[in-house]
Amino acid sequence: MFGAFQDLSFLLHVTQYEGRSIEKLIAPQELGQASAALGGAVIEASYVQTDPPLLAHLAEERIPWMVDPQSVRFTSPGYLEVARLSGLPYAPNAPLDPGRFSTSVERMVRGAMEFQAQAEPSMYLVPALPLSRASAAVFRTFARIHELAADVNGKEVPYRPIVAAAYPSALVLRGRFSVFERLDRTFAGAYVLPLQFNPKRDSVERLVAYGRFLEHAQGLGLRVVAGRAGVFGLVLAAFGIENFDSGLGERESFSLTRLTKVRHPEPGGKRDGGRQRRVYVAQLRSTIAWDEADALLETQALRAQLTCDLGQCRFGGYRYALEHPRDHFFHTRAAELEALRARRTTDLRVQLVMQWLRTAIDTGRLVNRVRDEQKAMTLDFEHLETWRAVLTRVATVVAVRER
Ligand SMILES: [Zn+2]
Repeated sequence: MFGAFQDLSFLLHVTQYEGRSIEKLIAPQELGQASAALGGAVIEASYVQTDPPLLAHLAEERIPWMVDPQSVRFTSPGYLEVARLSGLPYAPNAPLDPGRFSTSVERMVRGAMEFQAQAEPSMYLVPALPLSRASAAVFRTFARIHELAADVNGKEVPYRPIVAAAYPSALVLRGRFSVFERLDRTFAGAYVLPLQFNPKRDSVERLVAYGRFLEHAQGLGLRVVAGRAGVFGLVLAAFGIENFDSGLGERESFSLTRLTKVRHPEPGGKRDGGRQRRVYVAQLRSTIAWDEADALLETQALRAQLTCDLGQCRFGGYRYALEHPRDHFFHTRAAELEALRARRTTDLRVQLVMQWLRTAIDTGRLVNRVRDEQKAMTLDFEHLETWRAVLTRVATVVAVRER
């Protein structure tokens, strides 16, 4: 469907760094193939600004996409030192206060909408500020930013579907303060990215609060896009969160504090060259470092359990996934989402993901037993147990509501 993301699908989150490697590694026709798994893309404004050929490819392949305006960065001074952010035409001269709907905020919102319009995305994303405190002023500013963006849409910029955006702090998530209820305009969906988010490290409590926050937004009739969810997106999909985005690297986490304190490595910096490549191992529902994946697949006792038999991996042998981790990632994710889409009820989807997690936990134990014998360091699969607990808790709430 053009203009809206495909049902139960994953969206590629494209940063400037990843954009370049995507351009290099994915030929346009391959992008078309990948679209079986790809429900759309969320592309950071700093990359959009460079007018990359990727945007034309997406349009040709009719893959819906939207701009991430990166406005979440505009409340602390860090962005001023990052050229690709301070250089955005709508970047404010000084940090904005998320609790005050000032003329600077207004200017930023109008500018960000204008910027998005020029890039001709399928949808707009509201340039919201962080919900950093659970205060009336912050919520009021949040609502007014959304109102303004919706009002500009179709008047000052060509009309397109528009997606609401929330960047909640842990306290706002936990308190489940009404957030999207405050909006009296119509939005096509809601993009949610917690200010501190690391699905592989976060506690059960934190992830449950997050899951329930998303589920609640979805209950209001908003189509939810879970930002930077990575593999955890499969757990969210089980209870009906339609879309999640993640980068190709798949090591997903987000921390506004870290982003604003430490300068993000510039594209072309030391991360380049594929040294930190990672490989998705479906049987472990985990993305692991390339060297580890290599060691596991070179172990006779594990190979049969871990080898992928989808797509080109079927013909390319067990090393295909290591040599083409992105291709492997795309066909694996496509198969996972297809399996979820084939299950028509929440109950059946939850069962399926539970089964995936159980198998992954068992496989993880086997992997670590073998590594222990090899005197190799054991790998951490703790997150699988956490995710299972989260799924049980959130699914219970959903089941009660659906009854
Ligand atoms: Zn594969």
